[in-house]
Amino acid sequence: MPQTRNDQRRNRLTQPWTAVAIASNQPNGFGPKPYAVELQIFGSQIFDPIKKETGAHLLPFLFHLCRVNAVIAGNAETDAQERIPTENAPGLTFVRRGTTLSRARSQEGSGLNRTLVDARILQEFRAVVGDSGLITSQEELKTYECDGLTNFRVVPQAVLLPRSTEQIQGIVRVCHRERVPFVARGSGTGLSGGALPVKDGVVISLARMNRILEIDFANALVVVEPGVINQEVTGRVAPQGFFYAPDPSSQSICSIGGNVAENSGGAHCLKYGFTTTHVLGLEVVLPDGSLAHLGNKTLDAPGYDLSGVFVGSEGTLGIATKITLRIVKRPDCIQTLLAAFNSTSEAGAAVSGIIAAGMLPAAIEMMDNLAIQAAEAAVHANYPNCGALLLVELDGPTAEVEVLMCQVDEICRKCGAGEIRVAQTEAERVLVWKGRKAAFAAVGRISPNYIVQDGVIPRTALPRVMTEIARLSAEAGIRVANVFHAGDGNLHPLVLYDRRIEGQEHAAEVLANRILELCIEAGGSITGEHGVGEEKKMMMSKMYAEPDLETMQRVRCAFDPEQLSNPTKVFPRPRLCGEQPGEYQPHPVELAGIAERF
Ligand SMILES: Cc1cc2nc3c(=O)[nH]c(=O)nc-3n(C[C@H](O)[C@H](O)[C@H](O)COP(=O)(O)OP(=O)(O)OC[C@H]3O[C@@H](n4cnc5c(N)ncnc54)[C@H](O)[C@@H]3O)c2cc1C
Repeated sequence: MPQTRNDQRRNRLTQPWTAVAIASNQPNGFGPKPYAVELQIFGSQIFDPIKKETGAHLLPFLFHLCRVNAVIAGNAETDAQERIPTENAPGLTFVRRGTTLSRARSQEGSGLNRTLVDARILQEFRAVVGDSGLITSQEELKTYECDGLTNFRVVPQAVLLPRSTEQIQGIVRVCHRERVPFVARGSGTGLSGGALPVKDGVVISLARMNRILEIDFANALVVVEPGVINQEVTGRVAPQGFFYAPDPSSQSICSIGGNVAENSGGAHCLKYGFTTTHVLGLEVVLPDGSLAHLGNKTLDAPGYDLSGVFVGSEGTLGIATKITLRIVKRPDCIQTLLAAFNSTSEAGAAVSGIIAAGMLPAAIEMMDNLAIQAAEAAVHANYPNCGALLLVELDGPTAEVEVLMCQVDEICRKCGAGEIRVAQTEAERVLVWKGRKAAFAAVGRISPNYIVQDGVIPRTALPRVMTEIARLSAEAGIRVANVFHAGDGNLHPLVLYDRRIEGQEHAAEVLANRILELCIEAGGSITGEHGVGEEKKMMMSKMYAEPDLETMQRVRCAFDPEQLSNPTKVFPRPRLCGEQPGEYQPHPVELAGIAERF
């Protein structure tokens, strides 16, 4: 009888072999002090014995990588900490059959470790971008060690500042040939660690590619380089009565390239749609250095919507080098209403009421009392001091806006609004928005440290979820300020803490994660607009089942089989393109004779 593939595997299990893996003393395998364990792998026993014999929990990805059946031979708590890069993919060192832990130590640099960015490679980069386009001094590199999420910091090997698509191609070709991972960076305002460098990699900053290349009013589009600042697009087209709709609160500093990578939103995305609705086409340098054009200047090109795939991919599929954006005609009339409620539950009910009445306001934003206090202290926006403030903006033909504004007023009153006012002048309206857009930063005035959380819930769940957040906050003794895009159900709970008080940072992190779980339980999502990045990758497996993640990996690998473009982000654990589902394909480390799979 012919042997099946499983039979062959089973037979091979009779031969023990050893490998070294990271383990930790935390149940999820990601504790603060990971250490190495030597595994002797054989037979059909599964993971429980590892725990029994050593108290070690293996990192979950080990299971997936090797599908190991293992018994521990020993561990090496202290040495291994020096040896194993904790934040780097793939974190698992394969060793040859029979290799002991001490021999494995001497094999450092073999297997999956990548090429170091040495003088030769730097020289190649210099030839592409010139001296002024290459940063290597430690002091200057530190500028790039984090993005807006400052609790993750990694100093890159080098930073490159290209001025053209050709230069980006030149850099990426070197990276591809030498297996150097790279991370694109716009303005570094991301709040999920997306632009966090990779330790053995380089950062490619798009800051110098900041030209608006084309403005076509007849077709309502603009073509920009990725480093163009969001607000500049509106600034350039406003004299002709147009604007660029996606308006993140960071719009005065964030780049269009970053917006594309994060599929950024903003207050006015409720009516006008997120970044993805406004990207018609992209020129992209793929991770092998080749150039691709996704989408074009017209809507609905036949074939797969690959620009849709690229938007929101967080820098993992390549680097956007030119972006064609839709611009929108400015409406005749814009009116902004402020309604003061006693609680976020009342304000949440008003949001549902407005949408249920069949209206689609340009924006519906909510701030709770803590956020109002912070914004007032920073901007003096003249907000009423109340439990929750709703900002509702309507735009369109004047007659329509006036009728709908009366309806909004009525719904707010029915839901318990006390003070209601409509901004009477453009200056007043601008001030209202200034307060709202400054709210994240303003929270620094009322708390030394805070976590900006980003989750989504169905709009109808707003009152229930807001009540539960308040309960969790009281239970944890950690304050939470809420300022968010209520119309989209996109929450931004700001979890306030003081790092100097022992245990508060941890309690804040626990609470922030619990809020995300609450979003999932309510049928929502772990991010509305800030992305997964480094921060939320471990939440991905709470949000998605394994086959979903597998499918996403296949898409990623179609663009970036070597996983050089922003590796280690988004996915819950480092994974390798060699482990594609379906027909077995040997992994490069197996082909190199470094490891065996069975
Ligand atoms: C005060 C404040 C308020 C904010 N408000 C909002 C808000 O209202 N809505 C919102 O959505 N976000 C908001 N953000 C988050 C942030 O501004 C957005 O995510 C923004 O799009 C990031 O742009 P950036 O240029 O700073 O990108 P970076 O932070 O530099 O990069 C973000 C990601 O994009 C990738 N990337 C950058 N450029 C490219 C490129 N050309 N090609 C491929 N990948 C690329 C990076 O690798 C990284 O993964 C806010 C941030 C702050 C600090």
